Amino acid sequence: MATKKEQIIVLGSGCAGLAAAIYASRGNLNPLVIEGNRRGGQLITTEEIENFPGFPDGIGGYELVERMRSQAEKFGARFSNDHILSMACAAGEISLRGSSAVNYATEALIIATGTDSKCLEIPGEVEYGGGKGVSVCATCDGPFFRGKEVAVIGGGDTALGEALFLSRICKKVYLIHRRDSFRGSKIMDHRVRSNAAISILLSAVVEEILGNGAGVTGIRLRNVGTEERKILPCSGVFIAAGHAPNSSFAAGILPLDSNGYFVASDEDPAAATFPGIFLAGDCADPAYQQAVIAAGTGARAAIAAERWLSGKS
Ligand code: NAP
Repeated sequence: MATKKEQIIVLGSGCAGLAAAIYASRGNLNPLVIEGNRRGGQLITTEEIENFPGFPDGIGGYELVERMRSQAEKFGARFSNDHILSMACAAGEISLRGSSAVNYATEALIIATGTDSKCLEIPGEVEYGGGKGVSVCATCDGPFFRGKEVAVIGGGDTALGEALFLSRICKKVYLIHRRDSFRGSKIMDHRVRSNAAISILLSAVVEEILGNGAGVTGIRLRNVGTEERKILPCSGVFIAAGHAPNSSFAAGILPLDSNGYFVASDEDPAAATFPGIFLAGDCADPAYQQAVIAAGTGARAAIAAERWLSGKS
Protein backbone atom coordinates (compact mmCIF):
# COMPACT_ATOMS: atom_id res chain seq x y z
CA MET A 1 0.00 0.00 0.00
CA ALA A 2 1.31 3.50 -0.89
CA THR A 3 2.45 5.46 2.12
CA LYS A 4 1.81 9.15 2.56
CA LYS A 5 4.75 10.81 4.25
CA GLU A 6 3.83 12.85 7.32
CA GLN A 7 5.83 15.71 8.76
CA ILE A 8 5.28 14.52 12.30
CA ILE A 9 3.51 11.59 13.93
CA VAL A 10 2.66 11.34 17.63
CA LEU A 11 2.33 7.80 18.98
CA GLY A 12 -0.07 7.63 21.91
CA SER A 13 -3.17 9.50 23.01
CA GLY A 14 -2.61 9.82 26.76
CA CYS A 15 -1.59 12.95 28.57
CA ALA A 16 1.87 13.09 26.97
CA GLY A 17 0.73 12.38 23.41
CA LEU A 18 -2.11 14.89 23.60
CA ALA A 19 0.10 17.63 25.06
CA ALA A 20 2.57 16.96 22.23
CA ALA A 21 -0.31 17.14 19.71
CA ILE A 22 -1.49 20.49 21.13
CA TYR A 23 1.99 21.99 20.83
CA ALA A 24 2.74 20.46 17.42
CA SER A 25 -0.60 21.56 15.95
CA ARG A 26 -0.23 25.10 17.33
CA GLY A 27 3.20 25.07 15.70
CA ASN A 28 1.54 24.36 12.31
CA LEU A 29 3.13 20.92 12.03
CA ASN A 30 -0.20 19.24 11.18
CA PRO A 31 0.49 16.22 13.44
CA LEU A 32 -1.10 12.82 12.99
CA VAL A 33 -1.82 11.18 16.35
CA ILE A 34 -1.90 7.37 16.25
CA GLU A 35 -4.04 6.61 19.25
CA GLY A 36 -3.00 3.07 20.15
CA ASN A 37 -5.07 0.29 21.67
CA ARG A 38 -6.25 2.34 24.61
CA ARG A 39 -7.42 5.75 23.43
CA GLY A 40 -6.79 8.28 26.20
CA GLY A 41 -4.14 6.20 27.96
CA GLN A 42 -4.12 5.40 31.64
CA LEU A 43 -5.91 8.53 32.78
CA ILE A 44 -9.10 7.42 31.07
CA THR A 45 -9.61 4.86 33.85
CA THR A 46 -8.57 7.18 36.69
CA GLU A 47 -11.62 8.25 38.61
CA GLU A 48 -10.31 11.52 39.97
CA ILE A 49 -7.05 13.43 39.64
CA GLU A 50 -6.40 15.76 42.55
CA ASN A 51 -2.89 16.93 41.72
CA PHE A 52 -3.10 18.23 38.15
CA PRO A 53 -2.40 21.97 38.45
CA GLY A 54 -5.36 24.21 37.72
CA PHE A 55 -8.06 21.93 39.13
CA PRO A 56 -8.28 22.67 42.88
CA ASP A 57 -11.42 20.52 43.21
CA GLY A 58 -9.92 17.66 41.16
CA ILE A 59 -10.98 16.50 37.71
CA GLY A 60 -12.04 13.12 36.34
CA GLY A 61 -9.36 11.39 34.24
CA TYR A 62 -11.77 10.89 31.35
CA GLU A 63 -12.77 14.55 31.34
CA LEU A 64 -9.15 15.75 31.46
CA VAL A 65 -8.19 13.58 28.49
CA GLU A 66 -11.24 14.59 26.46
CA ARG A 67 -10.50 18.28 27.11
CA MET A 68 -6.91 17.81 25.95
CA ARG A 69 -8.06 15.93 22.86
CA SER A 70 -10.53 18.62 21.81
CA GLN A 71 -7.84 21.26 22.43
CA ALA A 72 -5.51 19.40 20.04
CA GLU A 73 -8.30 18.96 17.46
CA LYS A 74 -9.13 22.66 17.66
CA PHE A 75 -5.61 23.46 16.43
CA GLY A 76 -5.76 20.88 13.63
CA ALA A 77 -4.34 17.63 15.04
CA ARG A 78 -5.59 14.55 13.15
CA PHE A 79 -6.27 11.22 14.83
CA SER A 80 -5.90 7.66 13.58
CA ASN A 81 -7.38 4.71 15.43
CA ASP A 82 -4.45 2.35 14.91
CA HIS A 83 -1.86 0.52 16.98
CA ILE A 84 1.79 0.41 15.88
CA LEU A 85 3.37 -3.06 15.79
CA SER A 86 6.85 -2.28 14.45
CA MET A 87 9.08 0.50 13.21
CA ALA A 88 12.14 0.99 11.03
CA CYS A 89 14.54 3.91 10.70
CA ALA A 90 16.58 4.93 7.67
CA ALA A 91 18.27 8.20 6.87
CA GLY A 92 15.57 10.84 6.42
CA GLU A 93 12.62 8.55 7.06
CA ILE A 94 10.98 6.76 9.94
CA SER A 95 8.44 4.11 8.98
CA LEU A 96 5.78 2.47 11.11
CA ARG A 97 3.53 -0.52 10.55
CA GLY A 98 0.08 -0.51 12.14
CA SER A 99 -2.22 -3.36 13.17
CA SER A 100 -4.70 -2.06 10.56
CA ALA A 101 -2.10 -3.02 7.89
CA VAL A 102 -1.51 0.68 7.12
CA ASN A 103 2.13 1.77 6.75
CA TYR A 104 3.14 5.22 7.90
CA ALA A 105 6.21 7.28 7.04
CA THR A 106 7.26 10.43 8.81
CA GLU A 107 10.11 12.90 9.11
CA ALA A 108 9.72 13.28 12.88
CA LEU A 109 8.18 11.00 15.50
CA ILE A 110 7.13 11.59 19.10
CA ILE A 111 6.85 8.37 21.08
CA ALA A 112 4.36 8.73 23.94
CA THR A 113 3.11 5.16 24.18
CA GLY A 114 2.81 5.07 27.99
CA THR A 115 2.67 1.94 30.12
CA ASP A 116 0.27 -0.93 30.72
CA SER A 117 -0.67 -2.69 33.95
CA LYS A 118 1.58 -5.55 35.06
CA CYS A 119 0.25 -9.01 35.91
CA LEU A 120 1.02 -11.03 39.03
CA GLU A 121 1.54 -14.22 36.98
CA ILE A 122 -0.16 -16.45 39.53
CA PRO A 123 -2.68 -19.28 39.02
CA GLY A 124 -6.25 -18.08 38.53
CA GLU A 125 -5.28 -14.61 37.24
CA VAL A 126 -5.90 -15.35 33.56
CA GLU A 127 -8.67 -17.89 34.18
CA TYR A 128 -10.76 -15.38 36.15
CA GLY A 129 -9.98 -12.31 34.02
CA GLY A 130 -12.36 -10.99 31.39
CA GLY A 131 -15.32 -10.27 33.66
CA LYS A 132 -15.05 -13.25 36.03
CA GLY A 133 -13.66 -11.29 38.97
CA VAL A 134 -10.05 -10.27 38.25
CA SER A 135 -9.60 -6.68 37.10
CA VAL A 136 -6.93 -3.98 36.75
CA CYS A 137 -9.42 -1.10 36.82
CA ALA A 138 -11.65 -0.29 39.79
CA THR A 139 -13.32 2.61 37.99
CA CYS A 140 -14.33 0.30 35.12
CA ASP A 141 -15.29 -2.83 37.05
CA GLY A 142 -15.87 -1.72 40.67
CA PRO A 143 -19.64 -1.24 40.25
CA PHE A 144 -20.00 -5.00 39.47
CA PHE A 145 -18.93 -5.67 43.08
CA ARG A 146 -21.39 -3.39 44.84
CA GLY A 147 -22.00 -4.63 48.40
CA LYS A 148 -19.41 -7.43 48.04
CA GLU A 149 -15.97 -8.13 49.50
CA VAL A 150 -12.98 -7.50 47.25
CA ALA A 151 -9.18 -7.53 47.45
CA VAL A 152 -6.76 -4.96 46.03
CA ILE A 153 -3.17 -6.14 45.49
CA GLY A 154 -0.27 -3.66 45.55
CA GLY A 155 1.27 -0.93 47.67
CA GLY A 156 1.68 2.05 45.32
CA ASP A 157 -0.57 5.04 44.68
CA THR A 158 -2.66 3.09 42.18
CA ALA A 159 -3.47 0.37 44.74
CA LEU A 160 -4.28 2.92 47.45
CA GLY A 161 -6.48 4.92 45.05
CA GLU A 162 -8.29 1.79 43.86
CA ALA A 163 -8.93 0.70 47.46
CA LEU A 164 -10.38 4.13 48.35
CA PHE A 165 -12.62 4.12 45.28
CA LEU A 166 -13.87 0.58 46.01
CA SER A 167 -14.49 1.41 49.69
CA ARG A 168 -17.38 3.61 48.57
CA ILE A 169 -19.03 0.76 46.64
CA CYS A 170 -18.06 -2.50 48.30
CA LYS A 171 -18.91 -3.95 51.68
CA LYS A 172 -15.25 -4.59 52.51
CA VAL A 173 -11.94 -3.96 50.75
CA TYR A 174 -8.84 -5.97 51.68
CA LEU A 175 -5.71 -4.04 50.70
CA ILE A 176 -2.92 -6.59 50.41
CA HIS A 177 0.75 -5.66 50.07
CA ARG A 178 3.83 -7.85 50.09
CA ARG A 179 5.92 -5.40 52.21
CA ASP A 180 5.35 -4.00 55.70
CA SER A 181 4.73 -0.46 54.45
CA PHE A 182 3.20 1.16 51.37
CA ARG A 183 5.22 2.95 48.74
CA GLY A 184 2.34 5.29 47.82
CA SER A 185 2.12 8.95 48.89
CA LYS A 186 1.66 9.94 52.53
CA ILE A 187 -1.77 11.50 51.95
CA MET A 188 -3.12 8.33 50.32
CA ASP A 189 -1.50 6.16 53.01
CA HIS A 190 -3.29 8.20 55.69
CA ARG A 191 -6.63 7.96 53.86
CA VAL A 192 -6.58 4.16 53.52
CA ARG A 193 -5.49 3.69 57.12
CA SER A 194 -8.34 5.85 58.41
CA ASN A 195 -11.02 4.23 56.23
CA ALA A 196 -13.16 1.77 58.19
CA ALA A 197 -14.18 -0.17 55.07
CA ILE A 198 -10.54 -0.96 54.20
CA SER A 199 -8.78 -3.79 55.97
CA ILE A 200 -4.98 -3.72 55.46
CA LEU A 201 -2.99 -6.94 55.22
CA LEU A 202 0.78 -6.29 55.03
CA SER A 203 3.67 -8.69 54.42
CA ALA A 204 1.26 -10.89 52.50
CA VAL A 205 1.77 -12.45 49.09
CA VAL A 206 -1.13 -13.69 46.99
CA GLU A 207 -0.22 -17.17 45.76
CA GLU A 208 -3.41 -18.06 43.91
CA ILE A 209 -6.77 -16.64 42.91
CA LEU A 210 -9.44 -19.19 43.67
CA GLY A 211 -12.79 -19.66 41.98
CA ASN A 212 -15.65 -21.97 41.13
CA GLY A 213 -15.24 -21.83 37.36
CA ALA A 214 -17.80 -19.05 36.95
CA GLY A 215 -16.17 -16.44 39.17
CA VAL A 216 -13.68 -15.61 41.92
CA THR A 217 -14.41 -16.99 45.37
CA GLY A 218 -11.21 -16.03 47.22
CA ILE A 219 -7.43 -15.80 47.30
CA ARG A 220 -4.74 -17.86 48.96
CA LEU A 221 -2.32 -15.72 50.94
CA ARG A 222 1.09 -16.43 52.42
CA ASN A 223 2.55 -14.34 55.21
CA VAL A 224 6.16 -13.64 54.20
CA GLY A 225 7.34 -13.54 57.85
CA THR A 226 5.63 -16.58 59.35
CA GLU A 227 5.07 -18.55 56.10
CA GLU A 228 1.51 -19.13 57.37
CA ARG A 229 -1.06 -19.62 54.61
CA LYS A 230 -4.74 -18.72 54.70
CA ILE A 231 -7.69 -18.41 52.37
CA LEU A 232 -9.45 -15.06 52.23
CA PRO A 233 -12.94 -15.23 50.70
CA CYS A 234 -13.75 -12.42 48.24
CA SER A 235 -15.66 -11.93 44.96
CA GLY A 236 -13.29 -9.58 43.16
CA VAL A 237 -9.52 -9.11 42.88
CA PHE A 238 -8.11 -5.79 41.68
CA ILE A 239 -4.46 -5.99 40.67
CA ALA A 240 -2.41 -2.79 40.99
CA ALA A 241 1.12 -4.16 40.71
CA GLY A 242 2.63 -1.29 38.74
CA HIS A 243 3.17 -0.81 35.05
CA ALA A 244 5.40 -1.91 32.16
CA PRO A 245 6.27 0.40 29.24
CA ASN A 246 4.76 -0.09 25.78
CA SER A 247 8.00 -0.26 23.83
CA SER A 248 8.14 -3.71 22.22
CA PHE A 249 7.42 -2.24 18.75
CA ALA A 250 10.81 -0.45 18.95
CA ALA A 251 12.90 -3.28 20.43
CA GLY A 252 16.18 -3.62 18.56
CA ILE A 253 15.69 -0.22 16.90
CA LEU A 254 15.93 2.20 19.84
CA PRO A 255 17.75 1.67 23.13
CA LEU A 256 15.61 0.45 26.03
CA ASP A 257 16.64 -0.01 29.66
CA SER A 258 16.46 -3.37 31.44
CA ASN A 259 12.76 -2.81 32.21
CA GLY A 260 11.90 -1.80 28.64
CA TYR A 261 11.74 1.99 29.17
CA PHE A 262 13.00 4.16 26.30
CA VAL A 263 16.40 5.73 26.93
CA ALA A 264 16.98 9.33 25.83
CA SER A 265 20.11 10.55 24.09
CA ASP A 266 22.90 11.89 26.30
CA GLU A 267 22.61 15.36 24.76
CA ASP A 268 18.85 15.97 25.02
CA PRO A 269 16.36 14.36 27.45
CA ALA A 270 13.56 15.00 24.91
CA ALA A 271 15.27 13.10 22.10
CA ALA A 272 15.86 9.42 21.37
CA THR A 273 19.19 8.36 19.90
CA PHE A 274 17.93 8.35 16.29
CA PRO A 275 17.64 11.85 14.71
CA GLY A 276 14.02 13.01 14.47
CA ILE A 277 12.65 10.71 17.19
CA PHE A 278 11.52 12.29 20.46
CA LEU A 279 10.29 10.76 23.73
CA ALA A 280 7.50 11.82 26.07
CA GLY A 281 5.60 10.56 29.10
CA ASP A 282 5.71 7.41 31.18
CA CYS A 283 7.22 5.17 28.46
CA ALA A 284 10.52 7.02 28.99
CA ASP A 285 10.07 7.86 32.68
CA PRO A 286 10.56 4.97 35.11
CA ALA A 287 11.09 7.37 38.00
CA TYR A 288 8.12 9.76 38.25
CA GLN A 289 5.08 8.70 36.18
CA GLN A 290 2.83 11.65 36.95
CA ALA A 291 0.19 13.11 34.64
CA VAL A 292 1.58 16.63 34.91
CA ILE A 293 5.09 15.45 34.09
CA ALA A 294 3.80 13.40 31.15
CA ALA A 295 2.02 16.50 29.82
CA GLY A 296 5.16 18.59 30.35
CA THR A 297 7.43 16.15 28.56
CA GLY A 298 4.86 15.94 25.73
CA ALA A 299 5.13 19.70 25.27
CA ARG A 300 8.93 19.48 25.47
CA ALA A 301 9.09 16.75 22.82
CA ALA A 302 6.91 18.77 20.43
CA ILE A 303 9.09 21.87 20.86
CA ALA A 304 12.23 19.80 20.33
CA ALA A 305 10.70 18.21 17.20
CA GLU A 306 9.68 21.61 15.84
CA ARG A 307 13.23 22.93 16.31
CA TRP A 308 14.71 19.82 14.70
CA LEU A 309 12.37 20.04 11.67
CA SER A 310 13.06 23.74 11.15
CA GLY A 311 16.80 23.09 11.45
CA LYS A 312 16.51 20.60 8.58
CA SER A 313 14.81 22.90 6.11
P1 NAP B 1 4.13 1.39 41.69
O1 NAP B 1 4.34 2.64 42.46
O2 NAP B 1 5.24 0.82 40.90
O3 NAP B 1 3.59 0.32 42.73
C1 NAP B 1 3.36 -1.01 42.33
C2 NAP B 1 3.09 -1.81 43.57
O4 NAP B 1 2.79 -3.15 43.20
C3 NAP B 1 4.29 -1.85 44.52
O5 NAP B 1 3.86 -1.66 45.82
C4 NAP B 1 4.84 -3.24 44.28
O6 NAP B 1 5.41 -3.80 45.44
C5 NAP B 1 3.59 -4.03 43.96
N1 NAP B 1 3.90 -5.20 43.16
C6 NAP B 1 4.60 -5.27 42.01
N2 NAP B 1 4.68 -6.53 41.56
C7 NAP B 1 4.01 -7.29 42.47
C8 NAP B 1 3.74 -8.66 42.59
N3 NAP B 1 4.15 -9.55 41.67
N4 NAP B 1 3.03 -9.09 43.65
C9 NAP B 1 2.58 -8.21 44.57
N5 NAP B 1 2.80 -6.89 44.52
C10 NAP B 1 3.50 -6.43 43.47
O7 NAP B 1 2.92 1.53 40.63
P2 NAP B 1 1.61 2.42 40.69
O8 NAP B 1 0.98 2.36 42.02
O9 NAP B 1 0.81 2.02 39.50
O10 NAP B 1 2.18 3.88 40.46
C11 NAP B 1 3.01 4.16 39.32
C12 NAP B 1 3.37 5.65 39.36
O11 NAP B 1 2.20 6.42 39.12
C13 NAP B 1 3.94 6.07 40.71
O12 NAP B 1 4.94 7.03 40.48
C14 NAP B 1 2.75 6.70 41.38
O13 NAP B 1 3.09 7.68 42.34
C15 NAP B 1 2.01 7.32 40.19
N6 NAP B 1 0.59 7.47 40.49
C16 NAP B 1 0.19 8.68 40.93
C17 NAP B 1 -1.13 8.88 41.24
C18 NAP B 1 -1.54 10.23 41.71
O14 NAP B 1 -0.72 11.11 41.82
N7 NAP B 1 -2.77 10.49 42.00
C19 NAP B 1 -2.07 7.84 41.13
C20 NAP B 1 -1.61 6.60 40.68
C21 NAP B 1 -0.27 6.41 40.37
P3 NAP B 1 6.81 -3.26 46.06
O15 NAP B 1 6.45 -2.02 46.81
O16 NAP B 1 7.24 -4.39 46.90
O17 NAP B 1 7.70 -3.01 44.89
